[in-house]
Amino acid sequence: MNRFTLPRDLYYGKGSLQILKTLKGHKAIVVVGGGSMKKFGFLEKVENYLKEANFEVQLFENVEPDPSVETVMRGAEAMRAFQPDWIIAMGGGSPIDAAKAMWAFYEYPQTTFEDLITPFNFPELRQKARFLAIPSTSGTATEVTAFSVITDYAKGIKYPLADFNITPDIAVVDPDLAETMPQKLTAHTGMDALTHAIEAYVSTLHSPFTDPLALKAIAMVFDYLTDSYQGNMEAREQMHYAQCMAGMAFSNALLGITHSMAHKTGAAFSTGHIPHGCANAIYLPYVIQFNAKNASKRYAEIAKSIGLQGNNDKELVDALCNKIDEYNVKLNIPKTLKDFGISEKEFNDKVKNIAQLAVGDACTGSNPRPITPKEMEQLLICTYYGTKIDF
Ligand code: FE
Repeated sequence: MNRFTLPRDLYYGKGSLQILKTLKGHKAIVVVGGGSMKKFGFLEKVENYLKEANFEVQLFENVEPDPSVETVMRGAEAMRAFQPDWIIAMGGGSPIDAAKAMWAFYEYPQTTFEDLITPFNFPELRQKARFLAIPSTSGTATEVTAFSVITDYAKGIKYPLADFNITPDIAVVDPDLAETMPQKLTAHTGMDALTHAIEAYVSTLHSPFTDPLALKAIAMVFDYLTDSYQGNMEAREQMHYAQCMAGMAFSNALLGITHSMAHKTGAAFSTGHIPHGCANAIYLPYVIQFNAKNASKRYAEIAKSIGLQGNNDKELVDALCNKIDEYNVKLNIPKTLKDFGISEKEFNDKVKNIAQLAVGDACTGSNPRPITPKEMEQLLICTYYGTKIDF
């Protein structure tokens, strides 16, 4: 038996934040990040709308990027003291991810991260509160997904949490909030969304329910991302919806090894963090060439759906990779890890270990072609030097 789960309601369009005026309940805790929502006046709007709906409102501010176990525990404690019946999470991926984990510890104080990391093993939520998410960036789609990532800095590990219990009840996809994204973030989050949709489409768990969402999201990213990057706000609005649809697809079909590689290389090098979406954008064409051995028909379907030409599946797969390369150039994303600025020595010292970790990542299981640590190492080396995949 399979399951397909999305939020009960999705409100979208400019000004859709106003839906908060009609929310039914008594107490709402608003979980936010470091200040851009406050700076641009959206936090105040949310507070005012909730008060108009007769809510008692409490804020939980300053959730950091890559939220920590400590922040989650502090948030859960604040919730236990305040007893909200609505959790309102707003901002980039981080505050929404953190609030999802706070929710679990609010309702089940005795639970542990060790209990929660077994996929699809959460206790039944919504005993105390329901969850509304408002994204301000156009990439992670955590407002509609069953996922959250929390970092244990003391142990140096990331807890990927996955369970349909943490799929929000309501998502408010208001493009006004995405207008605040800086240019680079627009490029990276947009390519993250493209990667979500492509990986979901070729995933071993793809279904008739996820395929249309993935294909439409891919078409929309190719139609709107470069204009959004150049500051066109109508295109920015369409990207906000496209990333959300990509999220609906991958929350139910899962991802593949582009994400496994991005997860395990993001913080691996001393030359600096590789932003998640940027890493995905670099790896995606190489992964497509590697996976094409098993999934060329699916990639060819993607290529055809966006009007690319080719006489056979191989030509169509190549056309899709060329198209992604072309977008990376337009978005100022490098072609290789070397061009990104990763030191050759450090890369060579670490690649074997990273390959092992990437094979063990939660996203590897649904990749259309199985991969060994040795092959992963070869693949990573190709992404460093920009060499062709011939294995
Ligand atoms: Fe991603």
